[in-house]
Amino acid sequence: MKTKDGIIKKGYCVKKINVKDNKIKSVECEVNGKLEKIEGDIFISSMPVKDLVSGIQGNAVPSKISKIAKGLPYVDFQTVGVLVKKMKLKNKTKMKTLGNIVPDCWVYVQEPEVKMLRFQVFNNWSPYLVKDAENTVWIGLEYTCSEGDKYWNMTDEEFSSFAINELASMDIIDKDDVIDYHREKVKKAYPAYFDTYKDMDKLVKYLNGYENLYCIGRNGQHRYNNMDHSMVTAFEAVKNIKTGKKTKENVWNVNTEKEYHEEKK
Ligand SMILES: Cc1cc2nc3c(=O)[nH]c(=O)nc-3n(C[C@H](O)[C@H](O)[C@H](O)COP(=O)(O)OP(=O)(O)OC[C@H]3O[C@@H](n4cnc5c(N)ncnc54)[C@H](O)[C@@H]3O)c2cc1C
Repeated sequence: MKTKDGIIKKGYCVKKINVKDNKIKSVECEVNGKLEKIEGDIFISSMPVKDLVSGIQGNAVPSKISKIAKGLPYVDFQTVGVLVKKMKLKNKTKMKTLGNIVPDCWVYVQEPEVKMLRFQVFNNWSPYLVKDAENTVWIGLEYTCSEGDKYWNMTDEEFSSFAINELASMDIIDKDDVIDYHREKVKKAYPAYFDTYKDMDKLVKYLNGYENLYCIGRNGQHRYNNMDHSMVTAFEAVKNIKTGKKTKENVWNVNTEKEYHEEKK
C-alpha cells in the first residue's frame, strides 16, 4: 500500500535479521511462501523481542542473550463473542441504556468455578457495534491461556460451547437465547514478567548496541504497554531519529514511571 511518503507492505513476516558492525543491514520476510530481502538504514521493530533476537543471523547473538530472549514468557488470550436475544442480568441502576440492559462495558468475573476472567458488553461501548442494539446483545467472553494448552487446542465449536456454558452457569444468559458466536485467539497477548524477564536489562543493553534499531510498542519492548504507551514509544523513536539523538533511554523509559496515569487522584 502506497502512502504519501512510503509503502506499507502487508502480509510480510520478518524471519531473518541480517546484521553487520553493530547495525541491522536487512530483514528477510516470508511472503507468499518465499523469503524477500528488504534493506534499510533504520529499523523500527514492534515484533516480539523473543522473535527479533531469534531471527538475528550469523551467530551474532551471545548465547547468554539468546537464552534470556528465548525464556521471555507470554500469556495468550482467547475471546468468544456471543450474540444473544437478551441478558438475564437486570439493569437495577438509574442509567438508561438501549434495551434497558446493564450499563457495564466490562464485568470482572470472580466465580472460582469458571475459567472466564471478564466479559464485555459491546452494546455499551457503542450501539453502532451491534446491528440491532435494541433487541440483541453482543457479549465478549475473555480467557487467558497458553498457546498449545487444552483450551487453545479446542476447536472453535468446542471452545465456544465451553464459554457459553460458563456464561449460562452464572445465570447471565439463557443458552436458548444464543443467536450467534465467534471465537478469536491472540498469541502473545500479554508480555509477562517472570522467568528470564529479570535479566531484561541485559537484553535491552544488547539490542541498544544496534545503533539503527529501535524497539517500540508492547511486545517490541516486552512491557505491558497499552495503546497510548505503545504509540508514545514510536513518537520517541522518531524524535531520536530526527534529532540524531544516540541514546535510546527515552524510548525504553515510556511507561516506567511509578505513578500510573489511570489512577484516580
Ligand atoms: C485482549 C487485549 C485487550 C487490550 N485492551 C486494551 C485497551 O482497552 N486499551 C489499550 O490502550 N490497550 C489495550 N490493549 C493493548 C494494546 O492492544 C497494545 O498496547 C497495542 O496493540 C500494542 O501495539 P503494538 O504496535 O506494539 O503491537 P501490535 O498491535 O500487537 O502490533 C504488532 C504487529 O506486529 C506484527 N508482527 C509480529 N511479528 C511479526 C513479524 N515477525 N514480522 C512482521 N510483523 C510481525 C503483528 O502481527 C502485529 O500486527 C489490549 C491488548 C489485548 C491483547
